[in-house]
Amino acid sequence: VNHYLERIESNAHLNAFVDVYSEEALRFAADVDIKIQNGTAGRLAGLVIGLKDVLAHKGHGVQAGSQILNTYHSPYTATAVQRLLDEDAIVIGRQNCDEFAMGSSNENSSFGPVLNAADNTKVPGGSSGGSAVAVQAGLCHASLGSDTGGSVRQPAAFCGVVGVKPSYGRVSRWGLLAYASSFDCIGPITKSIEDAALILEIMAGSDEFDSTVSAKDVPSYTENLGWNGKAKIGYILDTIENEAIAPEIREQTLEVLNRLRSQGHEVTPVEMPLLDYLLPTYYILTTAEASSNLSRFDGVRYGSRAAENGDLEALYKNTRTEGFGEEVRRRILLGTFVLSANYYDAYYTKAQRVRRLVREETERFFEKFDFLISPVTPTTAFTIGEKTEDPLQMYLADIFTVQANVVGNPAISIPNGLDKNGMPIGIQIMAPFFKEEKMLSFANHLS
Ligand code: GLN
Repeated sequence: VNHYLERIESNAHLNAFVDVYSEEALRFAADVDIKIQNGTAGRLAGLVIGLKDVLAHKGHGVQAGSQILNTYHSPYTATAVQRLLDEDAIVIGRQNCDEFAMGSSNENSSFGPVLNAADNTKVPGGSSGGSAVAVQAGLCHASLGSDTGGSVRQPAAFCGVVGVKPSYGRVSRWGLLAYASSFDCIGPITKSIEDAALILEIMAGSDEFDSTVSAKDVPSYTENLGWNGKAKIGYILDTIENEAIAPEIREQTLEVLNRLRSQGHEVTPVEMPLLDYLLPTYYILTTAEASSNLSRFDGVRYGSRAAENGDLEALYKNTRTEGFGEEVRRRILLGTFVLSANYYDAYYTKAQRVRRLVREETERFFEKFDFLISPVTPTTAFTIGEKTEDPLQMYLADIFTVQANVVGNPAISIPNGLDKNGMPIGIQIMAPFFKEEKMLSFANHLS
């Protein structure tokens, strides 16, 4: 803990943490030490973790990177976090992120941007930017992030670390501040696949507080990391041939596919015609869900309240105008629009239908293949400020990651070399629903 506290301090310029629990973490570590001596320590004894600022942790602030929750302290702990604490993990602090997990560069945080440790002029990705940089820069062993449309995998790729998005319903969302409830997943960001497997197997499994969590048994991911046999791998032609993809990412993805082929795996290009509709579907449905989820922040129930609050409407309006940043307001407006009486069928209902079609197309794919391999992002980490003026450009960065959330499947991002400027490149493996075990062992084989 002392080592990490020093690292956090000497890397304060990265802005990865918004709160550090120095004394508490040291106290906790001393307790764990005693347990180790007594032989009663849990499976995560000594693991120092950070939490993305969207996870409830009793007695601690949680703000989702927003000013609207600046006075809020959580009265309870998220199930996923509690399960790690029960195994004696030590929480060292909470980590910077895009406001309400909306963003791909961590530039939408009210705490200011996070800097990529590989090059401080570049973004770390988002929305779990602080969590990825904390692992990249060695400020903690592992982080917990949340992934609604890539927010664990994309920053992991930009920072050269491992990020896992489990199947929807594998890990309880209880205590995760909601962005888009039917997409949100909690996932680990780690240095190794083994660490990710360990954290995931401890977090996963049914929870009486979240009815969307599956009661399916959780396999031992760590015991089954050895891969043997041949896999059937599909890749989408367009993810390789597309002009928008940086040449080095294309080459290094192809290199992996060729290597797998030469090892005797079956590697086949496929077409997925619905790919073009993924981003619109994702942004229509998530903004709709967000506009509903975020309506609870009204200046009455949680967090801060505007000083000027003449009548009820002014109270709502002023609190929300002052408390929410620009991107969150943009998405609430968009979501409210697509849910409004005149446009509901044209946008929301249609997007739900497309979601179903994409799910069916993905299911058909996995009837034939074990894994879908793709780049994680079309480019490596971009320069801070480069895309802030153009939200659509920013949304396009999510092209490869949103499919897993639209359909609910698990996906992992693992490091796949560097570009010529030394910026990390990632590669993504998507697996069938609830096949995390297979996905992790194959990722381990590949890495
Ligand atoms: N970049 C995506 C968005 O802005 C993903 C966010 C996320 O996964 N939380 O919505």
